[in-house]
Amino acid sequence: MRNLRLQFENECYPVWIGVRCVDEIMSNLRELSASSYHMITDSTVSQLHAGVLYERLSAQAVASLWVVGNGESCKCLGTVENLAQKMVQDGIDRSSVIVAVGGGVIGNLAGLIAALLFRGIRLVHVPTTLIAAADSVASLKQAVNLSLGKNLLGCFHKPTAVLIDINFLRTLPATQIRSGMYEIIKNALTVATENIPLLEKGLKPDANYSDTEFMAIVEAGLFAKQKVMKDDKRERKEALVFEYGHTVGHAIELAAEGRVPHGEAVGLGMIVAAEVASRLGRLSEADRSLHYQLLRRNGLTVRLPVGVTVAALMALLRTDNKRGYLSARTDQVVMILLDGLGVPAGPVGRPLMLVDASLIQSCIEDCLTGIKEIAVEGGFQ
Ligand code: NAD
Repeated sequence: MRNLRLQFENECYPVWIGVRCVDEIMSNLRELSASSYHMITDSTVSQLHAGVLYERLSAQAVASLWVVGNGESCKCLGTVENLAQKMVQDGIDRSSVIVAVGGGVIGNLAGLIAALLFRGIRLVHVPTTLIAAADSVASLKQAVNLSLGKNLLGCFHKPTAVLIDINFLRTLPATQIRSGMYEIIKNALTVATENIPLLEKGLKPDANYSDTEFMAIVEAGLFAKQKVMKDDKRERKEALVFEYGHTVGHAIELAAEGRVPHGEAVGLGMIVAAEVASRLGRLSEADRSLHYQLLRRNGLTVRLPVGVTVAALMALLRTDNKRGYLSARTDQVVMILLDGLGVPAGPVGRPLMLVDASLIQSCIEDCLTGIKEIAVEGGFQ
């Protein structure tokens, strides 16, 4: 396995990455000499990968497997409390290690439990989605959702290690691989513009990537995050740029009630952010078009998911988790916008803009309900 070290100001942790490396994952876990290991996973990943890992681990150490339901609806405080109660009954202690085996949902859930139990115990991520491997494990943020908004209850907790087996990504359906690629596209548009030519050539609408390509994609994702987060571990300054596309994206994700993968919602959010910036005279036509080009190459259908209304999105935007960074009127929303590729709008170290809700609404209507799409297909691109 290759070892990358992620540095977040004064904190760092190792990321081990390899292909078909379950033996190395096991020895890394054993080296932690935990009093007990508590593997948290979801019902899909339990069948595919976590069950096997758990069998290997429990043959060598005290271990328990905790399986939660599948998807975003389980990322809530109820699941945290329920699991924590059962773990305490099971004898978890301060020397135990929580092992998150799954996607970003499991990573966030397990991360919050590890942060809260005994005011903080060790956490190891074994990511099994592209979003988790290339993006969410490179963050100290742990959170669950409220029905009013995403990631509203959370804290910061540093993982002890991240152990990535690229082979686990092979069972992902194409929609989930594309979901991860949207975050990679976001990173390229915002902070890692050097990756844009690679994406222009290498994005595959069928999401059929080789192990070598997956390895390069995961490392590119981690390096892009590292580039900014080394100076902003709490993601409250420059690293807020990683929320690009998330203002509208989170609203779409919540309104779609689990039917739209996180990355795809962020892809739609980036289309709206590019349109807003373009209408404010900030983003050039060429850069706006590049958004469409890359996102479409990754399979994005530029349209609101069935059943998601503009009214529902506008209501959800009021509880976006960036509220309060700037003093906004009730008819304004805090957004990340670009002045150009790799150039966030707003003051240095605070890439945030106040945008009139009416402008966002008009951009959503024009871009995601069909009208703008026709204009772009008709040759405006
Ligand atoms: P997820 O964890 O729900 O996984 C998506 C789906 O893929 C699930 O149905 C899961 O069961 C399935 N799956 C997982 N691994 C699989 C595999 N190897 N083969 C087949 N199926 C598999 O969601 P996600 O897309 O990984 O992550 C999205 C979540 O991550 C969101 O809640 C988002 O807020 C969070 N996130 C957090 C951060 C952060 O900084 N902390 C960053 C990005 C995303």
